[in-house]
Amino acid sequence: MPIATRAFAATAADKPLTPYRFDRRDPGPDDVLIDVKYCGVCHSDLHAARSETGRSTYPLVPGHEIAGVVKAVGANVTRFKEGDR
Ligand SMILES: [Zn+2]
Repeated sequence: MPIATRAFAATAADKPLTPYRFDRRDPGPDDVLIDVKYCGVCHSDLHAARSETGRSTYPLVPGHEIAGVVKAVGANVTRFKEGDR
């Protein structure tokens, strides 16, 4: 069942981030599903949001440096379990 997700996204290189809803796929056997509580937005994210390399696709949700709680793990995952921070 898809996972309803809220985020902030850039919709174009010259637009501000705006609230955005999308569905994430179910986690696969090698995936860790994290309930993201916080994220940083670093300078790499700003380059991507502004498509400074010319390769960004939109909508784009920046913020790859995250902190949260593990909600589920796939069958092949051994280093994390539900509830880990
Ligand atoms: Zn970064």
